[in-house]
Amino acid sequence: MAQTETPRTTTPTTKKWVYLFQEGSADMRALLGGKGAGCAQMTRAGLPVPPGFTITTEACNAYYQAGRQFPEGMWEQTLEALHTIEQQTGKRFGDPQNPLLVSVRSGAALSMPGMMDTVLNLGLNDATVEGLARLTGNERFAYDAYRRFIQMFGRIVLEIPGERFDEAFEAIKGEVGARQDTDLDAAALKRVVARFKEIVQEATGRPFPTDPYEQLRLAIAAVFRSWMGKRAVDYRNFYKIPHDLGTAVNVQTMVFGNMGDDSGTGVAFTRNPTTGAKELFGEFLINAQGEDVVAGIRTPMPIRKMAEVLPQAYQEFQQIARRLEETYRDVQDLEFTVERGKLYMLQTRAAKRSAAAAVKIAVDMVHEGLITREEALQRVEPAQVEQLLVPQLDEATVEAARREGRVLAKGLNASPGVAVGKAVFDPDRAEELAHAGEPVVLVRPETVPDDIHGLIVAQGVLTARGGMTSHAAVVARGMGKPAVVGAEQVRIDLRERCFAVDGRTVREGDWITIDGGSGEVFLGQLPVHVPNLAELHELNELLGWADQVRRLGVWANADYPRDAERARSFGAEGIGLCRTEHMFMEEDRLPLVQQMILAAPEAARAKRAAGVEAARQALRAARQRAQEQGPAAAPELAELERRLAEAQTKLQADPAWQQYQAALDRLLPIQRGDFYGLLKAMAGRPVIIRLIDPPLHEFLPKHEQLLVEATELRVRGDNPQRLAEVERLLAAVNALREANPMLGLRGCRLGLLYPEINAMQVRAILEAAAQLHREGVETHPEIMMPLVGNIEELRRLHALFTEVAEAVQAETGVRLDYKFGTMIEIPRAAFIADQIAELAEFFSFGTNDLTQTIFGFSRDDAEAKFLGFYLEEKILPFNPFQTLDPEGVGELMRIGVERGRRARPALEIGICGEHGGDPASIAFCHRLGLNYVSCSPFRVPVARLAAAQAALADRGAAAARDR
Ligand code: ADP
Ligand code: MG
Ligand code: MG
Repeated sequence: MAQTETPRTTTPTTKKWVYLFQEGSADMRALLGGKGAGCAQMTRAGLPVPPGFTITTEACNAYYQAGRQFPEGMWEQTLEALHTIEQQTGKRFGDPQNPLLVSVRSGAALSMPGMMDTVLNLGLNDATVEGLARLTGNERFAYDAYRRFIQMFGRIVLEIPGERFDEAFEAIKGEVGARQDTDLDAAALKRVVARFKEIVQEATGRPFPTDPYEQLRLAIAAVFRSWMGKRAVDYRNFYKIPHDLGTAVNVQTMVFGNMGDDSGTGVAFTRNPTTGAKELFGEFLINAQGEDVVAGIRTPMPIRKMAEVLPQAYQEFQQIARRLEETYRDVQDLEFTVERGKLYMLQTRAAKRSAAAAVKIAVDMVHEGLITREEALQRVEPAQVEQLLVPQLDEATVEAARREGRVLAKGLNASPGVAVGKAVFDPDRAEELAHAGEPVVLVRPETVPDDIHGLIVAQGVLTARGGMTSHAAVVARGMGKPAVVGAEQVRIDLRERCFAVDGRTVREGDWITIDGGSGEVFLGQLPVHVPNLAELHELNELLGWADQVRRLGVWANADYPRDAERARSFGAEGIGLCRTEHMFMEEDRLPLVQQMILAAPEAARAKRAAGVEAARQALRAARQRAQEQGPAAAPELAELERRLAEAQTKLQADPAWQQYQAALDRLLPIQRGDFYGLLKAMAGRPVIIRLIDPPLHEFLPKHEQLLVEATELRVRGDNPQRLAEVERLLAAVNALREANPMLGLRGCRLGLLYPEINAMQVRAILEAAAQLHREGVETHPEIMMPLVGNIEELRRLHALFTEVAEAVQAETGVRLDYKFGTMIEIPRAAFIADQIAELAEFFSFGTNDLTQTIFGFSRDDAEAKFLGFYLEEKILPFNPFQTLDPEGVGELMRIGVERGRRARPALEIGICGEHGGDPASIAFCHRLGLNYVSCSPFRVPVARLAAAQAALADRGAAAARDR
């Protein structure tokens, strides 16, 4: 191709809509689209790119503003650019002697599905096809190109159903006895061309456009139209991509990979996009044009093989690949064609890659000196870290499953993770089985909001219909559950409760395994692998860099020593929430806990009757006076001490009190053991232990269950002793029943009604710490009160805890480093944060309850009844239980932080709701200036990266301000 350097300039009054490849560059992506900017950059770097030009994204927007008309000057500039290409190539558009053929390619700044497919060989007609045949000396090739062009143009630009061409093509193949496309000779292809033209005439009522300029005009308009096509619009809506970015149109000289065995076409990645290994990875197809590689008609060869068949082109390609990677400092996804031994580059773009590859490539590139550590941190998405750590199927497992023929189907990978469970076909059955302790996978043709209770209990969901934005996909992603949707091979029979694939039937209760990361569905229970961070060297290294960059601490929510150890191995710097109630639920303690609960109300009444609290208050006041003004100011001290002792003696004789105390006395050493283990596992680190929080009835048997048992016992009449017991339980459960337990007697309210329970817990924590201290283990227990909303609540509890703490320290002779603090999870607490901070040494935002109380949603009811609908209908943009709502919850947190720190500048503030593991929420917490986020152990690595990215984004913003 002759290179002539005469880019023409347009009159200065019209806007520049068209850029020759040599006029653009990589940083003009917004204007030229990704493909255009890539071709421009490669041209600029002197790489072999077929000459071409790009019509800008602005032209696309202007096309819509003008009511679907080319903006003024655009067509003229297109013709001018075309003319330049004619000079560069020495060919002429529409010239039967030496025709220039072009491809018309769409290309937005972000690659997105729904955009127009590429049209190749544009410029062919009955006259130019003859020229092409003469020039190449290959009539068959020319007519093959021509029929492909009519077919593509007809389908893509004229929107004629593709099958009409396919059927006609197959029919002619049949008539001439051809088995493969390549068996058709020139004469047969001429017949195909004639037939295709008839199809166009029939479908559009007009002849196929023979004027190449008309073809070009129509193709450009079709690219613009595809920007507002349904699929493209849906996609942008889903990913919140603005609609006014527009798409560019690339017009480029055709090169032919289908000109014989010294030609071909291929795609390749500069590194392996699955493993990240530094090796060329891709496929090449000899004697083929563009679409053939992806169409899967013929099996391409691995790119390595190209070295044998086209050594020179391969070598050149290798060098170019290396150069492009260095220029872009990222893995590239390349498209190229070889025409009679000569290599042409057609596309370069940042490669999509697996989670494992993303991490390995980022870390390798730092070691290669290609990118900085900060850049590496920004190249990996937190979700990818999560993907590497969620339970998954080993490659060997998948291989074995394939060999054994266990792969049932493949659908869309709508929500990552692996779910193993029994197939269930309706949500009610799913609930029944799940409540009986069976893991289930919900299988539906598609899901609707009424199925939500089934989704909630299922390990994962499989649907036969629907896309990435279907109800099942959206809801499963929202819940963080694995989902495979649109597995069209799956034939579901809801009445028979089974599904069939290829003659195999899976019935209700049969085990299946779905992999939401790959979209595969397997028969049976495949073993899942839970990765551990130490095995993942590159990830470990990357997270080490993250730790140097981030300002937010990352702690974990853990109730047991083994969770704490796992969290620590993932890099947790503390425990942000230990829920003590889980300890109470364990089998050996539950009877004691129930005994304690059953006795508590009676015991509290006895305590009031004995006047213990009143006596204690009076004594406290007198002691205070004596301390401040000298003993003479409180002559009644001795008398008050006697009265308190008397009240206590009286109380101790009360049977309910005795029962209550006995249970507490037996729980104390058990709890001490729990805390001992936890504090030891987190030696040297802060551990926040929350005192008992849920309503007491949660520890008792269910009301309905007791009712049934009591009725049966009464009817049978054979076990009066058990009947009495059940009736007593029933009465207690009845007495504890609440209309809205989540807003009822729980948290600090319990602590005020039954302070002995909290006192026991505080004593257990501090005694464990004292014991560890004697063993030489450093501990930092932090005692946390849930649900405080009123300052007097905190004042009283603070006084109680101080007394216990003083007592324990006096008894053990150990000075302990402990803190006392509160959750901020009731809106009112945030408003009075300054008062709370006078007493509390730390705050922890309980954003689950805060979200419930701010929205006025009960989470269980919301998720069961309407949240799915809200998300699907976009009444809410996201699930506020998953991503922190910045306008409501976030605003309240801001108030809490500001007022809290005003009263106590050194206040330690964190978050322990589930939001602590959500990247967007973590960024918000970073901006709010919290000290740490606390999340479930396996999300700790995700949070470390997200916190680092938030810090880097901050730096970026600061740098932009300074500029
Ligand atoms: P997509 O966005 O789907 O990748 P492209 O515009 O890259 O679409 O085109 C798809 C394929 O068409 C390319 O990989 C290439 O093989 C072929 N192609 C596009 N333009 C040309 C051209 N000028 N010459 C030869 N082949 C081309
Ligand atoms: Mg492409
Ligand atoms: Mg709470």
